[in-house]
Amino acid sequence: MEYVAILIGAPQKNTLTREITQSASLILPGNPAPRWLSPGNAAEFRFFDEGGEWGARSDLRATLYGLPLDIAILPARERRRKKLLIADMDSTIIGQECIDEIAAEAGKGDEVSAITEAAMYGGLDFRSALRARIRLIEGLNEAVLARVADKRLHLNPGARTLVQTMRANGAYCALVSGGFTFFTRIIAKRAGFHANRGNELLFINGQLTGVADPVLGREAKRDALEEYRIKLNIAAADTLAVGDGANDLDMLEAANLGVAYHAKPLVAEDARVSIDHASLTALLYLQGYSDDEFIE
Ligand SMILES: [Mg+2]
Repeated sequence: MEYVAILIGAPQKNTLTREITQSASLILPGNPAPRWLSPGNAAEFRFFDEGGEWGARSDLRATLYGLPLDIAILPARERRRKKLLIADMDSTIIGQECIDEIAAEAGKGDEVSAITEAAMYGGLDFRSALRARIRLIEGLNEAVLARVADKRLHLNPGARTLVQTMRANGAYCALVSGGFTFFTRIIAKRAGFHANRGNELLFINGQLTGVADPVLGREAKRDALEEYRIKLNIAAADTLAVGDGANDLDMLEAANLGVAYHAKPLVAEDARVSIDHASLTALLYLQGYSDDEFIE
C-alpha cells in the first residue's frame, strides 16, 4: 500500500534541514525524495510498504527523536483535500480559553482556571464544570464580555490561512465550541468560518444569569460533524476535525482525519495525527497543500 509521510516544523524556524530530510528518506522504504511543501518547514515523502504504516512510523520517530518536528503518516490513496473542516475554538483556533479570560477580566481568574484545567484534562464532567464556572461569574455585565473579545482573544497562528485556503478550495468550515456563541460569532468572522456553534449565554438587563439548555458538550461536537456532513452531502472520507481538549475526542474520532492540536496528553495519544510543534497551517500540509497555494 502507498503511504505519505509528512514532516512539519514550527513556521519560519527552518527546522527541517536537508540533513533531516535525507535521514528520513534513508529510513523509509524505497528511499523516496522529499516533495517540499514549505522550504525548511514542511515536506512529504511517498512510499510503498506492504507491512503497513506502523513500521515506518516507529522508524521515523526513532530517527527524528527529540527534534521539534511533527510527523504524520497517512494512506496516499485517501482523498487528501478535505471538504469539511470542524474546528474547536478555545486553545485551538484561538490561543485562549474564553471563560478563563472572562474570569480574569472579572477578577475571579484563579478559581475558574482551576476548574477549566480539570475539565480539559478529562478529570471533570464537561457540563458540570461549565455550570460551576458560570456560577462564579454570574451577574457580570455584557460589556465585560465585549471587552474580553476585543482585547484578550487572539487567533492562533495559521488559523485564518487554514480556513481561507480550505474555503477557496471548496471546503465548508464550521467552528464548533463548548464555549459561548457570544465569542464563536466574533471569532468565526475573524477567521472566515461559514458557520459557528456554541453555548448561548443568558442575560437579564445586560447581566449574565446562566447558560441555555442543553449545554453543548462532547457528544454535541461529534453530532455537529455528522449533521454538517449529511446536510452538505459530504463523504466521511472527506472530513477533517481539529481540537485540543477531552471534549473534542469523539469529534476527532468521527472525522476521517482527526488532528489533536497542541493538545492535552490524553487527546494527543488518541488522535490520528498530533500537531505539537507546528502552527495550524500544518493541517494544510497534511492535506498536501504547499505554501504557494495558501490564501491569507
Ligand atoms: Mg479547546
